[in-house]
Amino acid sequence: MSESAVRPGRVEEITSTSNPRIKSIKALALKKNRENEKLFLAEGMKLVTDALATGWRVRTLIHSKKLFDDAKLKSRVEQLATTVRARGGDVFITNDKLLTSITRRDNAQMVVAVIEQKFIDVQDVKCVDNNTWVALDRVRDPGNLGTIIRTADALGAKGVLLIGETTDPFALEAVRATMGSLFHTPIARLSEDQFLAYAAKWKSAGGAVVGTHLEGAVDHREIDYDKGPQIILMGNEQKGLTESLSNACSQLAYIAMDGAADSLNLAVATGIMLFEARRHALKSNDRSK
Ligand code: SAM
Repeated sequence: MSESAVRPGRVEEITSTSNPRIKSIKALALKKNRENEKLFLAEGMKLVTDALATGWRVRTLIHSKKLFDDAKLKSRVEQLATTVRARGGDVFITNDKLLTSITRRDNAQMVVAVIEQKFIDVQDVKCVDNNTWVALDRVRDPGNLGTIIRTADALGAKGVLLIGETTDPFALEAVRATMGSLFHTPIARLSEDQFLAYAAKWKSAGGAVVGTHLEGAVDHREIDYDKGPQIILMGNEQKGLTESLSNACSQLAYIAMDGAADSLNLAVATGIMLFEARRHALKSNDRSK
């Protein structure tokens, strides 16, 4: 439907924390409510701007009245509000106290949006070109997941596959850590069995599954990443990769270490793997030339 065919959303001033719409927005702090409603919260002008620019559906924009005191901020928030309303979303104008109660942060951002969740289907993960995908086995920490989504976006990976019981990419802490990359990074969710079936197809189509393991057989710098598409498979923070996932890999890589630490943080290890896997693509951005 074109924007002109959509009935514009309404604008309302709300200051009571017991307002039913505000109560249902606050309920999105819980994973089960986010999953039932297929909605999530994003805070701050940048994230909301990114969400709108990339076509995510903003159901509600909530912003502090205080923004009207600054001419620049006023004009920015009015632009956001116009776009949200033109696409059928509502705009609530409120106070900082109520915003803080939604985001549960003392220094709450003055803009919060309620956005519709989006996952892609694994069938949309195409084994073509030099595409890199990141797959995460049972990632637990929302900060790690958000950082990995941000890093995957920054290094030109095509998206992230979440395997098994994972933390929610739409939790407020994960969304914050993505710094807007959530809106540029396709995410699929699948069980371990679904991933194993998909990995078999991927390998028979000529793609590689590069697993990372403390006991890996190959130094991650020795792998020829620009030969074809690859999935970089990372293990759970406490337990590493399951045996079945390890067995499904074309290669198991280790990242050399030289200190007393017995492993790297998951997000750091993913960053190191991605820098190596995307090195061929990053060359063209070399500013030293
Ligand atoms: N105790 C876990 C184990 O034995 O695998 C440590 C898991 S580590 C904190 C989380 C994940 O980060 C690992 O499963 C692996 O994917 C990656 N990782 C961390 N350090 C690594 C290293 N030096 N080499 C390869 N992968 C590493």
